[in-house]
Amino acid sequence: MSAAMVVPFLDLRAAYVELQHEIDAAIRRVLDSGSYILGEEVAAFEREWATACGAAHAVGVANGLDALVLALRALGVGPGDEVIVPSHTFIATWLAVSQCGATPVPVEPDPMTYNIDVRRIEAAITARTRVILPVHLYGQPADLDAVLDIARRHGLRVVEDAAQAHGARYRGTPIGAHGDLVAWSFYPGKNLGAVGDAGAVTTNDAALADAVRTLGNYGSRVKYVNEVIGVNSRLDPIQAAVLRAKLPHLASWRARRAQHAARYSAGLAELPLVLPEVPAWADPAWHLYVVRVAAGSRARIVDALHAAGIATLIHYPIPPHRQAAYAGVSSARGPLPLAEQVAGELLSLPMGPHLTDEQCGHVIDALVGIVRDEDRP
Ligand SMILES: *Cc1c(COP(=O)(O)O)cnc(C)c1O
Repeated sequence: MSAAMVVPFLDLRAAYVELQHEIDAAIRRVLDSGSYILGEEVAAFEREWATACGAAHAVGVANGLDALVLALRALGVGPGDEVIVPSHTFIATWLAVSQCGATPVPVEPDPMTYNIDVRRIEAAITARTRVILPVHLYGQPADLDAVLDIARRHGLRVVEDAAQAHGARYRGTPIGAHGDLVAWSFYPGKNLGAVGDAGAVTTNDAALADAVRTLGNYGSRVKYVNEVIGVNSRLDPIQAAVLRAKLPHLASWRARRAQHAARYSAGLAELPLVLPEVPAWADPAWHLYVVRVAAGSRARIVDALHAAGIATLIHYPIPPHRQAAYAGVSSARGPLPLAEQVAGELLSLPMGPHLTDEQCGHVIDALVGIVRDEDRP
C-alpha cells in the first residue's frame, strides 16, 4: 500500500480523457451544424435513451429537477395535491413536488436498502394523494412491483426518480418504464453524465410524453401557439451529443462499478460496518457504495480516511424535513426518526468506473486499519 496514493471520490475528468476523441468530435458536430436548439442531435439521443431504458418515448429536458417537475405537471399535479416521497432522499425529489404547488408527504426508508419502505406507503395515502414518487437511491431499484400494486389499488400514478439509476434493472427489466413516468438527470456526476446540466423523462405513454414535451417548450406544440403555461426546459444539443458519445460505454462502466462494489463487499465483510444489501430482484447501477457506521464514529473515520488520501462524501447529511426550506413538515407529519438516523450514520466510499483496483484496495486496507468494534451502528 502506497502512503502517497490519493483516491478521489469520483474522477469526472477521467471519463472525458477515456472518450476524448468521441466527445470532442460530438461537440464539434453540433458547432458545425449551425443548429443550436433541439434538432437532430437531441432527437437522436432521445431515441437512443428510450431504447436503452426499454421505454417507448424519451423527452430531453434541461436537468433532473425539471424532469421530475414536468413529469408531475404532465399528470396534472398541482396545489392541494399530495405526493408520497421518501423521507431519505436528495432534496430535489421534494422540491419537484413543491414546485408544482403540491405537498410532499414523506415515508420512511427500508433500513436495509434505504429506499422507500413499501410497507409504510399505504398509511400515508389520503384523499388528496395523487402520485407515489419512489427514488432508486444510490442506484438500487426501489421495490417497484409493490409500489405499482399499491398505486393500482388506490388509483394513484407512479413517477420514478431515476437520477441515480442509469442502467439499473428491476427483475431483469431496465429502469425506465415501470411507472407512468421516469425522471432522469444527466448531471456530470451521475452514472451517465453530461458536461453541464441535462435531464430526460421516459415513458411508454405517448400522451404523457407529448405533455412533458409541450410543458418544457413554453407550453407550445406549434411555434407561437401556447396551449398551457409552460417553461423553457430543453435538452441542450451539445449535452445531447456528449451523452450520445458516452451512452455506448454505460454498460461497461456499470460493470466496473459492480466489480468495485463486489470488491468492497468482500474486503469489508469482517468489519463492524453495515454494508449495502442487494435484494434478489435488484441489479443496481452502483451510483454510490454507501456503508453505515455509528453516528459518533463517523467524523473520526472520515478524518482517518482523509489522512490516508481517501475522499468520502455523505449522502445526505441533512434530511429534507430538517432543512429550513421545509420547516414545519416534520411537525405536521410526525417525526421521521429513520431518516434522521441514517443521515447520521451513512458514509459513501469512492466509487466510479475510473476508480482503479489499487485505489479500491487502498480504501479497503485503510478501513481495515481504522474501523473498530465500537464503530458498529
Ligand atoms: C441529482 C438528483 C436529482 C436532480 O438532478 P439535477 O439534474 O441536479 O437537477 C434528483 N433526484 C436525485 C435522487 C438526484 O440524485
